[in-house]
Amino acid sequence: MINESRLVQTFLDLIAIDSPSGQEEAIGAELTRLLAALGGEVERDEQGSLIAHLSAAQGDGQSGPSGDWLMLSAHMDTVGKDLGIKPQIRDGVIYSDGATILGGDDKSGIAVILETIRSVQEDGMPHPPLEVVISVGEEVTLRGARLLDKGKLRARRGYVLDGGGPIGTIVTSAPSQDSLQITVHGKKAHAGSEPEKGINAIRVASEAIAAMPLGRIDPETTANIGTIEGGVARNIVPDEVRMQGEARSRDNLKLAVQTAAMATAFQEAAERHGARVEFKFTRSYSTYNWTEEDPIVAQAMAAARRLGFPPVLEASGGGSDANIYAEAGIPCAVLSTGMEDVHTSQEHIAIADMVNSARLLQEILLAG
Ligand SMILES: [Zn+2]
Repeated sequence: MINESRLVQTFLDLIAIDSPSGQEEAIGAELTRLLAALGGEVERDEQGSLIAHLSAAQGDGQSGPSGDWLMLSAHMDTVGKDLGIKPQIRDGVIYSDGATILGGDDKSGIAVILETIRSVQEDGMPHPPLEVVISVGEEVTLRGARLLDKGKLRARRGYVLDGGGPIGTIVTSAPSQDSLQITVHGKKAHAGSEPEKGINAIRVASEAIAAMPLGRIDPETTANIGTIEGGVARNIVPDEVRMQGEARSRDNLKLAVQTAAMATAFQEAAERHGARVEFKFTRSYSTYNWTEEDPIVAQAMAAARRLGFPPVLEASGGGSDANIYAEAGIPCAVLSTGMEDVHTSQEHIAIADMVNSARLLQEILLAG
């Protein structure tokens, strides 16, 4: 049985260990200890991400095929730089003290995975061989999962416990993302005595940004210019502007069109003024799209229905480690742990939701 007070205690213990992205040393050591105590063969890669292998159990002496490896995944880093998080419980809901995030993203996912394994072990329930993967650096463009040696992974399907919404919410698709780095090179000149000798890089950038499609492009596609910096002084025509932006779509063709449109807007503005543009983009992660027929989705939906949680299939606007594993040939669905308002100081999670998330995961394991 999922043990509510043990689950909450595990969650609070994990919250007590600071782990902003890049500072996962302490929590990684603790998770290694916890997973080893559950009988896991734990391996930590150079970045600090963990892979633990736990063998299958037949349950009550029954024999039968042990099944294929099933991945259960979460991330151990928390967003931003918040330290010293002080969780508070009010009316069955866990909050921070309002000064920081809570870190339920994604420590609720880790706590749910640990409690589920404890529960099935304690009750001698059958389960497939489990591959627990806990990444570092998820909040910085999925760095830990990207750098993880996927050749070490044995599972060919999995669940990433890193979602919000009512229990039963299953993320079945997420976009591809292009990260953009743009520099406009103009020409310096004295702004008062000889402005005509200059090429104003800020003006070129402004015209380009004003001309390009941005924001919500269509239901599957978004784009943003997120940072801009440049210029040296009030009285100098600026010769350089640097920008960071992004484009996302759940359709790779639409993404290519959008990224090209942004590049073209810069190119055209630069040509009008005799400026030069460097436009670089990298694919940060790639889209996935599962349907109700895909086994990971079908099994999660069936398990949710058995427990009375209406399955809700959701298309996400953001990437997660599931994008990286999907690209490596491991289809993963993202399950809700009940976390809400993540990445803000209002972040919170209802204990009942966390318990139900573990019950759902346990139900999925029982079905193999
Ligand atoms: Zn997360």
